[in-house]
This record gives sequence, C-alpha cells and structure tokens, in this order.
Amino acid sequence: MKNDVIIIGGGAAGLCAAVALKKKSPRLSVRLLEAMPRVGKKLALTGNGRCNITNRDIKPGRYHGKNPEFCRYALEKYSGYETECFFSGIGVSFSYEGEKAYPSSFQAASVVDCLRFAADEAGVTVMTETKVTKIQTSGGLFKVIAGNMNFMAKNVIIAAGLLSGGDRLGCDGEMLELLKKAGFKAVKLKPAIVQLKTGTDTVKQLKGIKTDALVTLEKDGKALKTDFGEVLFCDYGLSGPPVLQVSGALPENPAGCTVSLDLYPDISVEELADTLFKRAKNLGARQLDEFFTGMLNKRLGQVILKAAGLKLSDYVSSLDSGSVLKTADFLKKFRFNVTGTTGFLNSQVTSGGLDTSQFDSKTMMSRECPGLYAIGEILDIDGDCGGFNLQWAWSSALCAADAITGRK
Ligand SMILES: Cc1cc2nc3c(=O)[nH]c(=O)nc-3n(C[C@H](O)[C@H](O)[C@H](O)COP(=O)(O)OP(=O)(O)OC[C@H]3O[C@@H](n4cnc5c(N)ncnc54)[C@H](O)[C@@H]3O)c2cc1C
Repeated sequence: MKNDVIIIGGGAAGLCAAVALKKKSPRLSVRLLEAMPRVGKKLALTGNGRCNITNRDIKPGRYHGKNPEFCRYALEKYSGYETECFFSGIGVSFSYEGEKAYPSSFQAASVVDCLRFAADEAGVTVMTETKVTKIQTSGGLFKVIAGNMNFMAKNVIIAAGLLSGGDRLGCDGEMLELLKKAGFKAVKLKPAIVQLKTGTDTVKQLKGIKTDALVTLEKDGKALKTDFGEVLFCDYGLSGPPVLQVSGALPENPAGCTVSLDLYPDISVEELADTLFKRAKNLGARQLDEFFTGMLNKRLGQVILKAAGLKLSDYVSSLDSGSVLKTADFLKKFRFNVTGTTGFLNSQVTSGGLDTSQFDSKTMMSRECPGLYAIGEILDIDGDCGGFNLQWAWSSALCAADAITGRK
C-alpha cells in the first residue's frame, strides 16, 4: 500500500496535520496511525477538560528548548488568528478568558470530535490500535512497520509526542528511542508544567490551602523564573498555575533549589512590617494564634508565626519590633526546599526531544532524511502553561502540511 503521507500519532499535532493536508490537497492519500484505541486521548484531557487551545500572547519568548528561535517562523506564520481560521473551518469557534482561548463549547472532547469528523470527511484513513515499531527507507520511499503490517509512504510525519501524561495516553517515548537508534540526536527529557515536590514538614500542615503569591524558583538564592497566581499546598509540595509555570526552569539536579512565595508582592517588607505593627497595637489582647485571623488564611498565618520562631500561646502585646520584622520577612519570602517534581506522568509537557538543529524550521522536515517530518511535542520545543503547547502542535503541523503539499 503506497501512501503520499503517513502520520505517526493521532494526537493534537497529527490530527491537525492530517486535516490540513487533505484540505489543501484533497487528492493526497493520507494515512494516520495511532497506537491507542482512540485518537486524541490527551487532547481530550487538556485544560482540565476545557482545552486551552491557544493564547493571544504567542511569541517565541514563551517557548523553551536548546534553540527556542526554531519555533519563530511557524508561530509567526500560524499565529492565533490563523489557528482560529483553521478551527472555525472545522466547526470549532473560540471564546477567550483573558489571554487564553478555549473552544466556545469549553469541551476539549468537542475539539477532538471536530478534528476527527474533519479527518473523516476529508478522506484521511485513520487506523487506531496501530503502533509503529519501525521505520525503514526502501527505494526512495519509507516503509512504516506496525506489528505485522507494512505501509509504504513518500512522506512520513512523526507526531508521536513524548512522555507527559504517561502510557495511559499513549505517551511512552518509544518513537524517540527508535529515532535515536536511527541516528537522530535528542536533547535530554525533563517533565515541565508539573507540580514541585518540597520538604514536607510545612506543606503537610497547609495541605488544601490556596493562596495568591508571587512564586520564584531559585537556585542557590538566584532567581530562575517567577510567576504570580494561586498556589495550592499539597502533602507532597506545591501546585497551582504559577508553580507549574516556573517548574520547567528546575535544573536536573534540584540541590540548592528553593521556591520562595511572596504573599504580599505589592508592598515592600517595610510597609508590611508597618501594617503588622499597627495590627499588633490594635489586637494586643489576643493570643498570637489569632493574630492573622481576618487578614490571612488562619492556618497559614499560624505556620508563618511558628516559622518566625514565635509561640502561638503568647499574647500579641508581647510582639517586639524584631519579631514583627521577622514575620514580615517570612510573609515576603516563605521558602521551601525543592526536592524534585511529581514526574512525567503528572506533567503537561516534556521539555527536550528531537534536537531541532536537524530539522528545517519552515517545513519541519529532517535535513538528513528528506520526506521525514517531526511536529509537536516530540521536537525539543516546549511552551509555557496557557495554550502555548497546543499552539506549537497546531503551528508545526500546519507548516509541515504546507511543505508537503508544496513539495508535491
Ligand atoms: C493533562 C494535560 C493537560 C494539558 N492541557 C493543555 C492545555 O490546556 N493547553 C495546552 O496548550 N497544552 C496542554 N497540554 C499539553 C498538550 O496536550 C501537548 O503539548 C500536546 O497534546 C502535544 O501534541 P502532540 O500531538 O505532539 O502529542 P500527543 O497529543 O501526545 O499525541 C501523540 C500521539 O501519538 C501516539 N503515538 C505515540 N507513539 C506512537 C507510535 N509508536 N505509533 C502510533 N502512535 C503513537 C500517542 O498515542 C498519541 O495519541 C496538556 C497536557 C496534559 C498531559
């Protein structure tokens, strides 16, 4: 069976490429091979089931990898507006929450459905439970092997993703290993957009509490990445959007890394201390365990006071200027030693992957192996949390589709 294009992987990037190829060149024969029983399993879970499909602030600065500039051309060519046109053409309209775009249905499953329907209507041959185990070249064509089935193709698009989400979503990273064996270089994999594990003594006491904070990931006291938003204390460490956002900057060896929470980022430590002094004057008759009641989450306030070395059974009137300053300092720099992340299974994206120097950034085609393309997460490009990773899947897929239809 000779195909014009075989796409390996029916996730976000693979489905988008399949639809775009057939829309641009209806006569192309396009076959999509997906290892799982259904296509788009991960896509259906994105954005907590709502699918944060793109963002208004798409730019290379929001992407990471050995050479983040690799994504510039694709993102500029297929920005938010072009993405919106592609999706409106298959029945998905967008609604915005701030900078973030969602399908107007707010249902990730509906994005999978519309991609599936469009692929079907356009005549893409979709084969599920078809895991590719080998790719060979033979007589100027590619031979794609899946178990006891062989498929010949003029072009192959690798859209097999990486490890984030784990095996249950079809993300086992085996395709990357296969390509490495064939001589492709890869950048080491690391989970990103993931919860951080910390020393557990303090976080366990705060489990379940959510609070706004400016979160800074630091190594040996030097800031690596900062983000603001709602932090969630968990028994293993810290979660919440700003924690996920800074997690990608965690070095492979987390020794010396801390997360610092600034619970009052809008004021200086002196202004905060002044507020606490005034509060202490007013509330001197209370015991310290109620000092923060009404200002801060009660349990969080108590843990901060204990961290500042104060006894909760003492009276507020006993606070001296030193302990007030120390407490203000803890509220501005509430630090946790980072011991690692919760791993690939819980991560939204994998950083690392196929070294982009081996691919053309306009077409996503391999420089060494013409006709072989790589798109989406399997490339060494990962974006921030907020619709950036799906946008990379769409942009890289649309560029590869352009290149293949132009090459025909
Ligand atoms: C829980 C979760 C929530 C997320 N939410 C968002 C969000 O809201 N916004 C956002 O921008 N990003 C989000 N992401 C990230 C986003 O889902 C990924 O960046 C995106 O899905 C990557 O697309 P892809 O097509 O490259 O890979 P995938 O979507 O992972 O698809 C790869 C496909 O290839 C198949 N495959 C693998 N190996 C083979 C093989 N050998 N043969 C055949 N098929 C194979 C897999 O089964 C899979 O279906 C989220 C991720 C997770 C895990």
